[in-house]
Amino acid sequence: MRRRLSERPPRFGVLRTLTFVTVSSSASVAGSEDRSPEFLAAIRSQLPDLRLLEDEVDRDSYRSDETAYLHSELPLAVALPTTTAEVSALLRLASEFRVPVVPRGAGSGLSGGAAGLAGALTIAMTRMDRILEIDRPNLVVVTQPGIINAELKRRVAEEGLFYAPDPASFEICSIGGNLGTNAGGLCCVKYGQTRDSVLGLEVVLADGRVIRTGGKNVKDVAGYALTHLFVGSQGTLGIVTEATLRLRPLPPARSTMLAFFASLDAAGDAVGRIATAGVNPVTIELLDQPTIEAVDEAHGLGLDRTAAAMLLVESDLPAEAAAVELAVAREACEAAGSTSTLVAADPTEADWLRQARRLALRALERQGTVRMEDVGVPRSRVTDLLRAITEIGVRHGVRIATFGHAGDGNLHPNFIFDRDDPRAEEVTELARADLYRAAIALGGTVTAEHGIGTSRRSALVEQVGPGGVGVMRSIKDALDPLGILNPGRVI
Ligand SMILES: Cc1cc2nc3c(=O)[nH]c(=O)nc-3n(C[C@H](O)[C@H](O)[C@H](O)COP(=O)(O)OP(=O)(O)OC[C@H]3O[C@@H](n4cnc5c(N)ncnc54)[C@H](O)[C@@H]3O)c2cc1C
Repeated sequence: MRRRLSERPPRFGVLRTLTFVTVSSSASVAGSEDRSPEFLAAIRSQLPDLRLLEDEVDRDSYRSDETAYLHSELPLAVALPTTTAEVSALLRLASEFRVPVVPRGAGSGLSGGAAGLAGALTIAMTRMDRILEIDRPNLVVVTQPGIINAELKRRVAEEGLFYAPDPASFEICSIGGNLGTNAGGLCCVKYGQTRDSVLGLEVVLADGRVIRTGGKNVKDVAGYALTHLFVGSQGTLGIVTEATLRLRPLPPARSTMLAFFASLDAAGDAVGRIATAGVNPVTIELLDQPTIEAVDEAHGLGLDRTAAAMLLVESDLPAEAAAVELAVAREACEAAGSTSTLVAADPTEADWLRQARRLALRALERQGTVRMEDVGVPRSRVTDLLRAITEIGVRHGVRIATFGHAGDGNLHPNFIFDRDDPRAEEVTELARADLYRAAIALGGTVTAEHGIGTSRRSALVEQVGPGGVGVMRSIKDALDPLGILNPGRVI
């Protein structure tokens, strides 16, 4: 059965409605005395043009990222540099005075990686937001890290070019943060994660040295893959001050299909069938029933709220080829038992649907405090992961709404609590421990795109083992021997 969508466009708007929980403990570099007053005085005298926020109200707005329910602290001060030289000078002084530093982009992260630390300088990269070059012949853009992802996309699109990485937060997150987390999003299934679009970086190291990795070469195997090492390191190995990113020709407007299912098993089965059907859609997203209901309630799209799950499948091929690709995907969904499918009538309707999916977290946040997880499994295990999530919800008596990038095997189970539920902390801890265990047992990962940050450090050991963490620790010690950069994050 095919249906048309309701005529009403979704209501958009980004709400910041998270609960603040703060636990006090100050960051310090092991064994060092507190020299922060001299540190700030040195910054003021050596960098008189630098914007340095010292007022408590100003600093407070840099306290947390989007995981405001996690531990966070008031930063010592917030620096807003505009040049690489300023970042370098800040890190040189931080090393000299043994003051920790928290690199920060737009603060939309979901693992506490950019949250403030008492006694630490937050370096917010938002004012380094210029595109330095769009190089058409080489299909690259050279940019500063502070630019918002959507703005970069818009600017290169004006030149007929396409920057693929597409986190659902693309209108509020920065390229620097995307590099810091190796952000994923809605089109990784075809174009990969942020790392797959990075050719080169300029990075300021903990002691203030500036290095360049990679460049405009599509192929480059000179030495160790430093570019890839820095991407996803969550500001623990260096601060990115410039990035050379890979572009593609701008694809046609997307064609979009929805498929509804009476069971999660059937939806998971459809994901596997599409993956092996010989097509390569740009997006395969899954929303479970609670998420469908929340999104439909928020945006009035006329979705089937009784369905157990829905897949959003998109093609960015030219019109006729896209029709074929979606027809193949629809057959796969039907073979898996879809109850209905519909195709967006035009690009505007497709945009509503995609945007409503992007805002799924906001739609759920209307119901209470949402604690979002980010597990991943090999694509063929999506059904098993969905079953495990359902079992965990029952076992711990917690409401879970799940959506995510099913085509990548990456799902976001969201634990939802009433805003004043005293069990929230404890139940989350137990439920997410089970969730991580389930993902690892399925050959998966405890975080596919949001990062270890502060919140998943013990799970990292469970996943990669002490040997793997030991190698990571050696890398960290080699690049940041004083432990200045984002201490307590990742490892
Ligand atoms: C509604 C919503 C939807 C989201 N959807 C997605 C999604 O689909 N996919 C996804 O991957 N994420 C998603 N996220 C999470 C978040 O947007 C991403 O992790 C994003 O990459 C963070 O970018 P940011 O600029 O906000 O970085 P921040 O949160 O400020 O920082 C993130 C990390 O990067 C480090 N960092 C920042 N700048 C630099 C730099 N210049 N050099 C070195 N390290 C740096 C920080 O120290 C921190 O560890 C979503 C978040 C929200 C709120």
